[in-house]
Amino acid sequence: MTSSAGQGAEAAAASAESREERISGVVGDARAFALDSDGFACTRVFDEPEVWRVELLMSQTFLPSVNVFVVRDGAETLIVDTGTPDDYNDTRLMRALVRLGVDPAHATLFCTHAHIDHSGQARELAEAGVRVTLSRATLADMRRFSTPTYCDYMAERLVGEGVGAAEAEEMANSIWAHVTDFERDEVPCRALAAGDVVRCGRWEFMTVPVPGHMPGQTALWLPERGLAFTGDVVLYACSTCICFWGGSDDALGDQLSTLRRLADMGVEHAFLGHGVQEGVLAERCLGNVAHHERRSERALAAVGERPGSTGRELVPSLGWHVPFETWEKVPALTRWFLVSESVAHLDHLVCTGRMRREKDDAGVNRYWLA
Ligand SMILES: [Zn+2]
Repeated sequence: MTSSAGQGAEAAAASAESREERISGVVGDARAFALDSDGFACTRVFDEPEVWRVELLMSQTFLPSVNVFVVRDGAETLIVDTGTPDDYNDTRLMRALVRLGVDPAHATLFCTHAHIDHSGQARELAEAGVRVTLSRATLADMRRFSTPTYCDYMAERLVGEGVGAAEAEEMANSIWAHVTDFERDEVPCRALAAGDVVRCGRWEFMTVPVPGHMPGQTALWLPERGLAFTGDVVLYACSTCICFWGGSDDALGDQLSTLRRLADMGVEHAFLGHGVQEGVLAERCLGNVAHHERRSERALAAVGERPGSTGRELVPSLGWHVPFETWEKVPALTRWFLVSESVAHLDHLVCTGRMRREKDDAGVNRYWLA
């Protein structure tokens, strides 16, 4: 299972490995080490505080990998996010923690949001003795989005935008299975209020709500170092997915506010859920705002040309890059991302008074310019 993931760190890991083997079990002064022979590696990415990036396989989406971060200070460890559970990731993660000399009794996990690639291995960590934390807002997301009622709601909303019933159910199921729930899965956890701190030795990371990608998504912020763990707020590999959630009438509006706020926070060193920071974070945030605004403009233009279109009819006009021959060949989870983000744009345009929505006789939403 060779992947492009981790190849950047592979060479460093390989050179570190020979020296590493003499240190039996602890990381010593190495700055990288391999987690397996497939190119997945653990790399030191910051010194004060000491931060390690554990890159794990990301399945189901086009993103090649997902990050877990490990902060060490003295005997204490903070783990940020868990990676996706699969046949190999738990072994890779545990190997990284053992090699880093992490004592589970002095380790805390913080999950930035409820998606399975960020919280799906919390049970394994809890069973090893790690204390699991998350924001109250993320716990609320877990409670709400993991219920069958919510899956039905998402399917109904898709049908209400003109998606066929069978496809709506398939798409809703694909994202529904992507959300974890610590209470349902009996993972003992402690929920923190916004602004609470997560400590690791000398360092106090502040919890900062960053809604949009998920309503409860929460970043960790260390102002004195300009360092933040930002989950999936903003990525460099792609624009992070914004779906309608039903909790807010305007998920895209929430995301735009979050991106503008993050751009103003003075984050110099951002550690992302996927990939690495590739430039000034504020520029990426504002570039992403502009990207969303261009897409909303496309939706307005399409409705201007074809007034009374359904949400589903408008999806292709929003300018998605879909590398598949036909719609049917696009995986259900990707179709969900495309349709639900299109709906989030329509919600945003209705909420900001630029579009008007009315149900037709079949109960399907149709859109006009306001
Ligand atoms: Zn993610």
